[in-house]
Amino acid sequence: TGRLREVSGGKVEKWRSEAEWDDRLDYFVKKKLRIWCRLRNGAWVSGHIQSTSGEKAMVLLSDGSVVTVPVGEVLPANPDVLEGVDDLMQLSYLNEPSVLHNLHNRYARDMIYSKAGPALIAINPFKDIQLYGNEFVTAYRQKLLNDPHVYSIADTAYDRMMEDEISQSIIISGESGSGKTETAKFAMEYLAMLGGGSNGIEKEVLQTSYILEAFGNAKTSRNNNSSRFGKLIEIHFSTAGRICGAKIQTLILEKSRVVQLLDGERSYHIFYQLCAGAPPTLRDKLKLKGASEYKYLNQSGCLVIHDVDDAEEFCKLMEALNTVRISERDQEHAFQMIASVLWLGNITFQVIDDESHVEVVQSEAVTNAASLIGCTVNDLILALSTCQIQGGKDKIAKSLTVEQATDRRDALAKFIYANLFDWIVDQMNRNLAMDKEQMGRSINILDIYGFESFKRNTFEQFLINYANERLQQHVNRHLLKLEQEEYELDGIDWSKVDFEDNQECLNLFEKKPIGLISLLNEESNSLKATDLTFACKLKQHIKSSPCFKSDREEFCIRHYAGEVTYDATGFLAKNRDVLHPDIIQLLSSSDSHLTEDKKFSIPSTDTGVLDFQKQSVATKFKDNLFKLMQQLENTIPHFICCIKPNNKQLPGMSDKDLVIEQLRCCGVLEVVRISRSGYPTRLTHQEFTSRYGYLLPKDNACQDPLSMSVAILHQFGILPELYQVGYTKLYFRSGQIASLEDVRNQVL
Ligand code: ADP
Ligand code: MG
Repeated sequence: TGRLREVSGGKVEKWRSEAEWDDRLDYFVKKKLRIWCRLRNGAWVSGHIQSTSGEKAMVLLSDGSVVTVPVGEVLPANPDVLEGVDDLMQLSYLNEPSVLHNLHNRYARDMIYSKAGPALIAINPFKDIQLYGNEFVTAYRQKLLNDPHVYSIADTAYDRMMEDEISQSIIISGESGSGKTETAKFAMEYLAMLGGGSNGIEKEVLQTSYILEAFGNAKTSRNNNSSRFGKLIEIHFSTAGRICGAKIQTLILEKSRVVQLLDGERSYHIFYQLCAGAPPTLRDKLKLKGASEYKYLNQSGCLVIHDVDDAEEFCKLMEALNTVRISERDQEHAFQMIASVLWLGNITFQVIDDESHVEVVQSEAVTNAASLIGCTVNDLILALSTCQIQGGKDKIAKSLTVEQATDRRDALAKFIYANLFDWIVDQMNRNLAMDKEQMGRSINILDIYGFESFKRNTFEQFLINYANERLQQHVNRHLLKLEQEEYELDGIDWSKVDFEDNQECLNLFEKKPIGLISLLNEESNSLKATDLTFACKLKQHIKSSPCFKSDREEFCIRHYAGEVTYDATGFLAKNRDVLHPDIIQLLSSSDSHLTEDKKFSIPSTDTGVLDFQKQSVATKFKDNLFKLMQQLENTIPHFICCIKPNNKQLPGMSDKDLVIEQLRCCGVLEVVRISRSGYPTRLTHQEFTSRYGYLLPKDNACQDPLSMSVAILHQFGILPELYQVGYTKLYFRSGQIASLEDVRNQVL
């Protein structure tokens, strides 16, 4: 490694810019050094330059063929000794093909983790790799292993929390299916094992993941176990460093999935688990049938997940619910709610006149749904198919159209499910709450839904991608911006590294009064507005943003991770998310466990379809997101960037374009560049002199800390390129403090 450190020292940085590389080209030709060249199909291949003429280079590829490429399509490759280094900071030449090659080289050997300066890169292996479990936990804890690993990130966070008594956060980003949730679980497992193993509260904390996944994850086209909600888990530690409690905060669940599925996708796991695994007595009580009998589940032509046994999963879920101490009675109520949703979905309507007014078709679905919800069949029928209007003193029931009635039914099902989800999270929080005096030491793990771009993108993607913009800014701020600002503020010599800032896109969402969320709320508050008027409003008002284009009912946002076209259909209804008063009436008068112990927060309003008091979904989402971000601002962050190597969820396959796209999104090259040319170790002059001051001759001791610091640096002959003196702090390149410590240890 001695050699590696030398190569990765300050010198090589000088060749960074394109112009300087042009000068080096001749040298590469003469010494027959390896280069990367881009072929016409966009692929990077390695070879040697045989000769150049003007703007063209003749390149001998490793397969023996010779190609002629423009000089601009040639980049330096790294020397063999750097093949597969574990920190991209060590690469002599930092360019996309080199980074890709290095990561690929490691990935092919099941080394899925690499460092990019302070951040960890994790490439999803899509298979079990032997890197986890007790032995590895111990090895990382005892610092016997220091290869990049999620364990090592968790370990660093833990040590810093214990030493400095500052809360830490582990922020996991990446596209859907890149491995965020699995990574979060490994981090939690590690922290649980540090506290002495999976007993008591540690086991409870770990089991929450299982429950959250059953109720909040589903199979999508991207990921068989896709999280359809965002979460921040706060894990609290006692003074002795053991887990003593936890708190889960969630960002809204995608509830449209309960009633509507895309082909090949599934609803939430719990539905299939319950249908497959419920024991006979429960099955009888819930009048349960197989999943294929329910419209909400069978509409997508996908009922099972390859290699997953839903019945078995149900047993595990029951165990987890018991572990987190959710009472049997509450569990049964929860399953009752799940079954009521399924039966609601099977309720059908038949047209009774030529204006397409409907009535509910009498069936076991209506009877079962009513009994599970705890209302009479008649009340349910009225609430689903009629509108109560005031006619003189009496109320008259007016029939609804097919569309209206279907909406009512689906709204009720979504409401029940979303409330059930929130209720379960509340129960877990109540059982895992820690004593007040134990607060203070915590590690927060953030795992939100990844960036999404589908053929058709709607309100859900709009919110998810907005959350990802916010998260990205947090990452950028810490890894790129704050670092550079600190150098500038402290007056040190520093050549700035540019990076893509996403402030413009955030402004597009958040600005008042002309921003996407404001305009959406404005339209949602107007009775006359429709999705089309909303789309027109956007087109009319948002003119100057470089991140926005609009065309009739579609609009297009340029996100940091790519352009996404959104279909405005359904935006207003989803943003308003009002429950019709007739449904509210039904729920509040039902004598079920729904209303018992305030289990469900049934809105008590009695106004029309629009309620001006009520916060819109987008506003609530934004507020929650701000709260989470605020909480993270008060912690020391550790970043993990998850990468999805292919879109097929298959092991041993990596699609280079896909990977490079994600590396660009995470700003990996910029992070490495800043870290490498930066000064990761910092000490105030005061801290520095009090630690190393006694190494100086006595008469120096009366000087001010700054002069004394400089004297110490001279005394020990530290090369000027290895440190910088700021107004308030000293900045060292990595590894320098270690050598000062060596001297100190020898003297002491
Ligand atoms: P995300 O939360 O980013 O959408 P997940 O964490 O759910 O993605 O990962 C998707 C799938 O990839 C998992 O279900 C699992 O099969 C696989 N996977 C992810 N990380 C790992 C890992 N470290 N080892 C083995 N398989 C993994
Ligand atoms: Mg996930």
